Amino acid sequence: MVAAMDISIRKAERSKLQDLNLENLPFGKFFSDHMLEADYENGEWKNIEIKPYQPLLLSPSLAALHYGQAIFEGIKAYKDKNGEAFIFRPYDNFKRFNISAERMAMPAVPEELFMDGMLQLVGLDRNWIPTQQDHSMYIRPFMFSSDEMIGVRPSENYKFMIILSPSGPYYSAPMRIYVEEKYVRAVTGGVGYAKAAGNYGAAMYATAEAKKKGYDQVLWTDPFEHKYVQECGTMNVFFIIGNTAITPSLEPGTILPGVTRLSAITLLQEMGFTVEEKNISIDDLIDAYKAGIFYEAFGTGTAATISFIKELRYKDFVMQFDVDHWRTAPALKQWLTDIRTGHKEDKYNWMQKV
Ligand SMILES: *Cc1c(COP(=O)(O)O)cnc(C)c1O
Repeated sequence: MVAAMDISIRKAERSKLQDLNLENLPFGKFFSDHMLEADYENGEWKNIEIKPYQPLLLSPSLAALHYGQAIFEGIKAYKDKNGEAFIFRPYDNFKRFNISAERMAMPAVPEELFMDGMLQLVGLDRNWIPTQQDHSMYIRPFMFSSDEMIGVRPSENYKFMIILSPSGPYYSAPMRIYVEEKYVRAVTGGVGYAKAAGNYGAAMYATAEAKKKGYDQVLWTDPFEHKYVQECGTMNVFFIIGNTAITPSLEPGTILPGVTRLSAITLLQEMGFTVEEKNISIDDLIDAYKAGIFYEAFGTGTAATISFIKELRYKDFVMQFDVDHWRTAPALKQWLTDIRTGHKEDKYNWMQKV
């Protein structure tokens, strides 16, 4: 065991919770009373503090704003039926955070800072965890370079922070998806497997174009042939074909290794599916669709959990799904929700008690 970090706590004088109704919340718009902030200076993490949520005062020359060393995580906290607070698989996010940090030439965040900091912060603001259906408290750890200098090199200074947002559902309606053939999200050797802020900025134009055409999101494909499927917007993607659940392989380094993806693989196997992580092309999907064995398609991610795909369009070929008669994705979604809210056994120890 590593010694606990010295986290100082300065409490808000007045809770903003009195001003907010924790029902029917939008996603990511409201923030709890406190935040965690820590500075990396001279090779060490210091000034570790939980304090009232407030704006930052930053120099216009802040390195992150110019050269984009910025990474983040997304995690959710829930209350079970007894009112106890739990966080879903936070250690997996901690590990992924440092994989992203390494790829972006940023320092690792120690486990005690990330995990103890998060547990203390969520513990302090536990009254902000909403209990209404499909609501949760979204936890956003992030790190950015904070050198005050315009120069292209890894910063010497960084800030690590955690903020908390009590939130309602993310996307709710089944999605119409446009198979992207012009723009790309990730290439082998790139940063697709890292949760880097720039990946999102780089994806917005293609998404906006797809929205103009009447779609909700794009299905990203490989950069060479635009055939092999990668991810659906900012979610991992699964296809139910016959008795097999297929999700793109992490092997090419172009896929963000989702914690929801990993959980879905485990539960789908328990449901009796053969789960294959492999390269799958649009042509394979079309063949299965024509053969009548392509039953379901859905995205997975912390924000939305499971998002159903009701339409997939590739060139002029449209694949449509009768979402109302699906059996797998809705059951998977329900199962995950039940584990998170304590209504089903957590046999894999995914829920970390606060
Ligand atoms: C965060 C993210 C996911 C989903 O990961 P989870 O750990 O399940 O939330 C999938 N794809 C991308 C591009 C992401 O950034």
